[in-house]
Amino acid sequence: MAGPEPAEVLDELFRRAPLTVAIDPARRARPAPLPGLSGVSVLVAEVGRSILAAVAEGAWPRLKACAAHECRWVYYDRSPAGRSRWCTMSICGSRAKMRAYRRRARPA
Ligand SMILES: [Zn+2]
Repeated sequence: MAGPEPAEVLDELFRRAPLTVAIDPARRARPAPLPGLSGVSVLVAEVGRSILAAVAEGAWPRLKACAAHECRWVYYDRSPAGRSRWCTMSICGSRAKMRAYRRRARPA
């Protein structure tokens, strides 16, 4: 039996840590955690605020989780085409390529 989809889990988390609009002294509007939140809810709201900022800046599609299951580090994809799969080619990328090479080289 499959668990909830990651999007459903995030949706539920962000529903418990809502954002509001805050106006700073320079009269700039920005998303901010709802007053009265505390603990983990503030952290979740700040993550939500960072996601909104990344979407607004067009950076969201390039924020990725490393494809290496033992890593899963979140990184910013700086490759020209935006198709990188690993956080670093020198560590996770070369490990994956070495594993694929060994699989291919293994006698049947
Ligand atoms: Zn990695």
